[in-house]
Amino acid sequence: ILYIKHNEKTILGNQALFDIFESLQVEEDNDSMTFLEVRPETMFEQVDQQEAFEAYFEEVLNGELPEGMLSLSIDQGEYFIQVYAEKIELGDQSDGTILVFRDVTAETEVDRMKSELVSTVSHELRTPLSSIYGFTELMLKRDLDPARNKRYLQTIHDESKRLTDLVSDFLNVQRMESGRQSYEKEVFDLIDTVREQTRFYQAATEKHRLQLDVDEAHEFLVNADKNSMKQLIGNLVNNAIKYSPDGGDVVISLTHHHNQIELSVRDFGLGIPSSAMPHLFSKFYRVDNSDSRKIGGTGLGLSICKEIVRAHDGNIDVESILGEGTVFKVLLPSVSDTLIEMD
Ligand code: ADP
Repeated sequence: ILYIKHNEKTILGNQALFDIFESLQVEEDNDSMTFLEVRPETMFEQVDQQEAFEAYFEEVLNGELPEGMLSLSIDQGEYFIQVYAEKIELGDQSDGTILVFRDVTAETEVDRMKSELVSTVSHELRTPLSSIYGFTELMLKRDLDPARNKRYLQTIHDESKRLTDLVSDFLNVQRMESGRQSYEKEVFDLIDTVREQTRFYQAATEKHRLQLDVDEAHEFLVNADKNSMKQLIGNLVNNAIKYSPDGGDVVISLTHHHNQIELSVRDFGLGIPSSAMPHLFSKFYRVDNSDSRKIGGTGLGLSICKEIVRAHDGNIDVESILGEGTVFKVLLPSVSDTLIEMD
């Protein structure tokens, strides 16, 4: 709240205002109910729409009451604020004008995420759909030789698969985030799932060599949902293959760390630019460079992995060097032998 007392020509602000406008900070300790004097010029510097705010302020100083709200952002979008003005009267005397600054940062962020989601989903759906539409139209209208027919059908098939994957990934994320995903946990040796997934993905590639680096003398017991573990390992191994387009080794390892199990999937492929690292586990995020973009995907795989790991009280992390390769590391609580005996 900012209070402009017209007669005394003083401008006062409360603690919340001082918290948002750091440039107003003063040394002394301030109780949240005390109003402190404000120098408006210092506030102006922090506002991204400085001119509009100054003009609004000027109106208020001149004793006018600007209509409607003014939307502002502060410190290059750190805060989003809505401002409105109200006259204050004591008796029938006008005392001043109050400016109320509502912090709408959270609402603004939700709005931004919603529109980003809609635009990404529609973009991701449009590309495969227009290709399916185009190829079926060609096949309907023209007499094509069998070889070409087969090629077009293959494309339609691949694109339908992409659509199905996208929709099921999307539903998966939705279910997980709304807490409707149920996990049926049981105790089993993670090495079996790792072996199974390695075999499955090795069968689909000739360019890559999938290697298991596991101390066979150990057990890697987890209390987890088997299907989710399959999905987690599958997503990581599939990515390691996908983002090593020239082929190469993929090393999958399991080790014990105190009472945790570490699963790591290492590749020697494209790597990830450091600027992309903070966003990797966000929904729909895909690295925006030509090498990665050429490779199909939904940008949902890693956010699903993160959600699965979270539901199992674990942790997922990534290290990568651009052009050299990437390693994803997952930590999961291990089940100790004593616990099983107690069961
Ligand atoms: P996608 O469906 O795009 O593969 P993910 O959520 O699985 O979605 O991954 C997000 C992005 O992270 C990918 O688009 C890719 O740019 C990058 N990425 C994931 N795994 C790797 C990897 N092993 N090597 C290089 N980049 C990767």
